[in-house]
Amino acid sequence: MKKKLGIIERLTKGIVLGAEGYVFELERRGYIKAGPYVPEVVLDAPNAVSELSFEFLRSGAEVVVALTYYANRNKLKDVGRENDLEKLNRQAVRIANKVAQKGNALVAGNICNTWMYNPKKKKESGEVVRKIYREQLQWAFEEGIDFVISETNDYLEEALIALQEIKRLGLPAMITLATIQKNTTADGYDYVTACKILEKNGADIVGLNCDRGPATMLPLLKKIRKAVKCFVAAQPVPYQTTPKEFTFESLKKNGQRIFPLGLEPFFLTRFQMAEFARKAKAIGINYIGSCCGTNPSITRAMAEALGRVVPASKYSPVLDLHPIIGKKIKSNNKNFINDWRDE
Ligand SMILES: [Zn+2]
Repeated sequence: MKKKLGIIERLTKGIVLGAEGYVFELERRGYIKAGPYVPEVVLDAPNAVSELSFEFLRSGAEVVVALTYYANRNKLKDVGRENDLEKLNRQAVRIANKVAQKGNALVAGNICNTWMYNPKKKKESGEVVRKIYREQLQWAFEEGIDFVISETNDYLEEALIALQEIKRLGLPAMITLATIQKNTTADGYDYVTACKILEKNGADIVGLNCDRGPATMLPLLKKIRKAVKCFVAAQPVPYQTTPKEFTFESLKKNGQRIFPLGLEPFFLTRFQMAEFARKAKAIGINYIGSCCGTNPSITRAMAEALGRVVPASKYSPVLDLHPIIGKKIKSNNKNFINDWRDE
C-alpha cells in the first residue's frame, strides 16, 4: 500500500483544503446545544458526526478534524458530563479515522481556547491549560492522528502552551488565532507578530480561523503571509463581515446582535466562498478552509474553485437543465453561476 502523505508533504506540494464548523452545523441539525456548544453528539449520536465528516470529505476536504472542540474537562463540566471526558475524546478520534479511511484524508486532532487562561495569573492558569491540552492530546495520539489543529486562540500565550504540548508528541502543529479584536490578541500581541512568534517557536502552520468573514480576514492574511516563511492557514466564517462589524459576533440586524442563531441574513453564497478560495490561493495561503456556518456545498464550491473534481462534483449544478431558469440560460446564452459569482 502506498504510504499516506503527511500534512507537511501535502502542503509542500500544494494547497490543502480543510473544512470545519462541525459544532455549528451539528447544532443546526439538532445534535448540539447552542450556548455551551459541547460536542456531546460524539457519544450520543456518533453516526451524525460520521455522516457530516463524510459529507465534507466527499466535498473535497482533505483533513477530517476529530470533533474534540470544547471537549475538554472544563467545558464538559458545564453540561455535567465530565465523567465522559476520555470516552468522548477517544471516540471522536476513532470516528475521524474511520471516515478518513474512506478517502485519502488526514486526521487532525483538535484543541482550542479553554476559557481557563488568565494573563494575570500566567503560571497557575497556564498549568491548568497545559493539563487540559496534555490529556486531550495524549488520548488523540493514542487513537492515531496525523497532526494537530489548535484553534480559535484568543491568547497567544495560551496558544504557545498548545504548541509546546503538540511538539512534545512530535506532531506537526497548525495554530490559528481567533481575531475578535481589531489588531491584537487578548494578551496584546499584534496578530502578525503573534504569528511570527508561533513560527519562531516551531509551529508548522500559522494563521487565522473563525470570527471573521473573508472580507475582513483577507487584509490580515496578506500581512501574515508576508511576515512568515512557514505555511499559512485561513478558515473564515461564511458571513458578510464589514470594517465596522468585522466579526460575526458583532453583526447586527436592526440594531440587535444576531450571533449565534440569527446570522442567516449575512450568510455568504457558495460562490462568494469559492471566490475567497481563489483569493486566498492568489495571496499564497497554503491551508484553505471555512469555519462556523459552513456546510459541504461551500466546501465543494471551494474545491472546484481550486480546480479540483471531488466525489460530490458528480452532482454539481447543471442549471440549464432546470425547467424554468434553464430555458432562460439557453436563450440568453448566459451562465447564471458566473453572474452570481461576480455580484
Ligand atoms: Zn468557527
